[in-house]
Amino acid sequence: MASVRTRFAPSATGALHVGGVRTALFSYLFARHFGGRFVLRIEDTDRQRSTQAWVDEIVGALQWLRIEWDEGPFFQTQRMDLYRETIERLLDKGLAYRCTCTPDELEAKRKVAMQGGGSLGYDRHCRPGFGPGPIAGRPAAIRFAVPTEGEAVIDDLVKERVVFRYADVDDFVIARSDGWPTYNLVVTVDDAAMEISHVIRGDDLLPSTPKQIALYQALDAPVPSFAHLPQVLGVDRARLSKRHAATAVTSYRELGYYPDALVNFLARLGWSHGDQEVFSRTELIHAFSLQNVGKSAGVFNLEKLDWLNFQYLKARTPEELASDLRPFMASRGIVVPGDDAWLAKMAGTLRERAKTLGELTDMAGFYLADD
Ligand code: GLU
Repeated sequence: MASVRTRFAPSATGALHVGGVRTALFSYLFARHFGGRFVLRIEDTDRQRSTQAWVDEIVGALQWLRIEWDEGPFFQTQRMDLYRETIERLLDKGLAYRCTCTPDELEAKRKVAMQGGGSLGYDRHCRPGFGPGPIAGRPAAIRFAVPTEGEAVIDDLVKERVVFRYADVDDFVIARSDGWPTYNLVVTVDDAAMEISHVIRGDDLLPSTPKQIALYQALDAPVPSFAHLPQVLGVDRARLSKRHAATAVTSYRELGYYPDALVNFLARLGWSHGDQEVFSRTELIHAFSLQNVGKSAGVFNLEKLDWLNFQYLKARTPEELASDLRPFMASRGIVVPGDDAWLAKMAGTLRERAKTLGELTDMAGFYLADD
């Protein structure tokens, strides 16, 4: 395949979750499989909610799992000039326009439309040739002029063909009245500038894809291929939440799971390769393909993760276990008396009964208390 470039674009507004890291893993595996490049881009334009602490946590979690990027991390807040220039260009070409409708006015129209059964979308009041136009002196947001006819056709690599009529797509805001650009603008500008060939992301973003396709076309940029991944669900098929299992990746580190076991588990969340369950990294890169990603949601089964982690734990020699355990125990504030030989002997005795380093540590407490 000609120069594959994928990206992972997490928002810096919270911990890296199981679903998010699965997206990162699939993007990484796809790039590696085709000898392409994998880009990390931090979406930090939400000024209220983005923090450096979340950036550090996301980057740390990816490093722990050895999901290695070739370029970045790039930060969108450092790319504002590019977004502003693009918005100006769209305005100059008449593909975007200033809108002075206030939130209150929009809300009032929406209420009327809801009662009368009319369209809830923006009525194009400010679009040249469609309404009375903007009101001078008011602060203006910028809206994109979505084509009034035609279709955005997505030949999604997971969902297959999805078609959206442009007539159903609103003239969306690309810059707020304070000049700050919005998600659909920045994601498209960046994916185009970074020459992303395959956008692999969660299917919660599918509704925004026709807007982005219209933007690519307005910018005369090639439209990438898309692969929208089904969500990750709990065993009861409800959206995965803390009720089912820890959702933050870092929790699994704290519980004493092996990063390779977690990667192996995440890879199998929605992707399959015959009956094989245990994969080395090299095998994953070799076998991974989007064709074998299922259309239905991946189910997060904690028992399966425990089983996999046990396979990785069992494959360690007692000496290796000792060197895994010492820093893990130290992270829990446990100072191990004696040398690694003692630790290896203890780990060798207990390991058939433990599924994680955390469980092994809990069991070792008995020996430690006994000194
Ligand atoms: N930053 C977006 C999110 O975390 C993802 C953007 C994208 O993949 O297009 O939901």
